[in-house]
Amino acid sequence: MAYMDKNILELHELLVSKKVKPLDLTKEALELAKADNNNAFETIAEQEALEFASNLKEPEVDNLLWGIPFLAKDNFSTKGIRTTGSSDILNDYVPVFDATVIKRLKDKKCILIGKTTLDELAMGGSGTTGHLGKTFNPYDPSHRYMIGGSSCGSAAAVASGIVPFALGSDTGDSVRKPASYGGLVGFKPSWGRISRYGLFPFATSLDHVAYFSRSVADCAILLETLAGWDELDMTSSHKEVAKYYGNLNSDIKGKKIALVREIMDSIKDEKILKDFNKTIEIFKEKGAIVEEVSISHQLLNALFPTYLVISCAEATSNNANLDGVKFGPRFGDAKTYQEVMMNARTNGFGELIKRRFVIGSYSLFKSNQEEIFLRAQKIRHLIVNRVNEILNEYDAIYVPCVSTARNPFENSVTDKLSDEYLIAENHLAIANFGGLPSITLPIGLDDNFPFGANITTKAFDEQNAFNLAFALEKALPYKNMTAGRILK
Ligand code: GLN
Repeated sequence: MAYMDKNILELHELLVSKKVKPLDLTKEALELAKADNNNAFETIAEQEALEFASNLKEPEVDNLLWGIPFLAKDNFSTKGIRTTGSSDILNDYVPVFDATVIKRLKDKKCILIGKTTLDELAMGGSGTTGHLGKTFNPYDPSHRYMIGGSSCGSAAAVASGIVPFALGSDTGDSVRKPASYGGLVGFKPSWGRISRYGLFPFATSLDHVAYFSRSVADCAILLETLAGWDELDMTSSHKEVAKYYGNLNSDIKGKKIALVREIMDSIKDEKILKDFNKTIEIFKEKGAIVEEVSISHQLLNALFPTYLVISCAEATSNNANLDGVKFGPRFGDAKTYQEVMMNARTNGFGELIKRRFVIGSYSLFKSNQEEIFLRAQKIRHLIVNRVNEILNEYDAIYVPCVSTARNPFENSVTDKLSDEYLIAENHLAIANFGGLPSITLPIGLDDNFPFGANITTKAFDEQNAFNLAFALEKALPYKNMTAGRILK
């Protein structure tokens, strides 16, 4: 048994030629999940997975997802399976319905193996704030460096070869950044492209369903199933769903790619810059036109504070329903509903969440709204306007994802007001501000630690993002990489 480090297309071949059965794959994935030592799991859904897989008998030749095991971040509602958001306030919450994306994957006969850890309620980027503690990077047996968050468990599980793909959510960079640390393809589509019904809301205007895979083709295959109008999510788009996989094309001749000078300048790591520059040459060799553009320092420095104000404000409002009454455990011996609420929110939330709710409440407070919240909205607008200006002229924006491949748990951030932090560590949120498709793929290794680059395109131009990534992937050795199979 050694199938689970294969990608969706490879597994499909094996399944339709009956060399392997969904039940075999499921058993292997379950064994690997149980042996995980990166703290990637909240729940392993053993019984449910075995039962589901046992019913899959006759392969569906035209259904590339038939019989493929997967994982979901523990902020997607799963009917009958505990869903915690990695927060104590939802410790014993068992949803009565499936999120639309879970339902769509089940309808395609994908097998849900379990639920993965996250930074509590998807807030955070370190993979350390969930109620089960730190999630580790499978590329680092010493457990000193981050896989990143908030979709830490999904990233760790795909990177360690447990399943070929896993769902996450991306509000600022929560899939695309861990994808970089995990040597994976990480993708979020346009805002509205995938229904968010059943995804715990964090910051509604920025939240996206997103996911990890080990190849660009798999990523395109998944979007064909996940995308599309959903009557249960009024923010989902009616736009037709394209044949992203069928239209995958590595001919990128004439495509115009923009490099943002200030973002590149904020990255100091020589290995990252060297490999990033190599990929620019690859694009050029393939006939793409690569040029530098500029986004003002002032706007880029404003990214993080703007993100913080908007996301915390929306999070405070969205999470007001976690009051200890409707869901989750009761804490202590409360007599009144006010006490129930106070106990639940005091004991149920971690430090980071409380801090963010303070920021959110403060910026929404009537007398502060104009000065803080509305101002942040205006700055968001200015940033999006500039980015859209660039994308009117170019097919894509291309940038390195992270400032270092090895981000230690301790001292990960020294000066939070430096460009290195404000820009290098936060620029991926640009695609959330604008609701733009954005894909990360591995472009290099620093002493066996992977790192990625990111391609962002116009709203609903997912195809261009896939095609550019596909072209690059073909020219690099990192497709299908796992921590157990480092490719150079
Ligand atoms: N790291 C960002 C934050 O802390 C992004 C989180 C996300 O995308 N869910 O909010």
